Amino acid sequence: MTECCICGKETDLPRSCRQCRNRIRGALLGLPELVVQCWMARHRVQRGGEGERVSASKEAPLPLRLDVLNLLGPSADAVLTGEDQEGPVPVVGVLSAWADLVTEQTRQRPVSGTVSGLTQHLLDHVEWACRQEWIRDFAGEVEGLMKTLRRVSGIEPVRIPLPVICPTCDLRTMVREEGSGWAAECRYCPAAKLSAREYSQLVAAQAQAVSTPQEA
Ligand SMILES: [Zn+2]
Ligand SMILES: [Zn+2]
Repeated sequence: MTECCICGKETDLPRSCRQCRNRIRGALLGLPELVVQCWMARHRVQRGGEGERVSASKEAPLPLRLDVLNLLGPSADAVLTGEDQEGPVPVVGVLSAWADLVTEQTRQRPVSGTVSGLTQHLLDHVEWACRQEWIRDFAGEVEGLMKTLRRVSGIEPVRIPLPVICPTCDLRTMVREEGSGWAAECRYCPAAKLSAREYSQLVAAQAQAVSTPQEA
């Protein structure tokens, strides 16, 4: 058994556990769709409240629009000539840096620089990537991208509050967050992330504690 370098749990797989690997795969699978939703957010902003007419005014772009353009990479940035790059890291930049590393280390031919081409390349090598020493940084950057894309598209993940006490901070702060890959996690403790099995064990343990009479 080794310790997963991402979540710190025991695993019999090298470097990272099955749960973290599934989460990374899920994030990569969802990325292209999130980028498309960002495009849609951009069009919504451009049209504003003026019906179908696209505004041709010279007003400074809204912060949201600038965010989206930065995320969509160099071709979209060209729309705002002369603007400084601000805000989030472009998706294509982050993905191609990792795809280049994979290409170099696996001695393969370079792939096309589109979001779908790059994510597919990373997905094709995800099991291999999960055994590399840089997987923790990779997972962090991919999850960071997902969060930024969600924020820019105005998509807040659904969070269901759970009726259990966090095993780390002892507060009623456990939630199930859509798309996170965990059955339960604490809103505050980074270490409190539970698989479906661990969550049902926690529920059973806490139900047991409540139904057992306390000694005075
Ligand atoms: Zn893990
Ligand atoms: Zn907690």
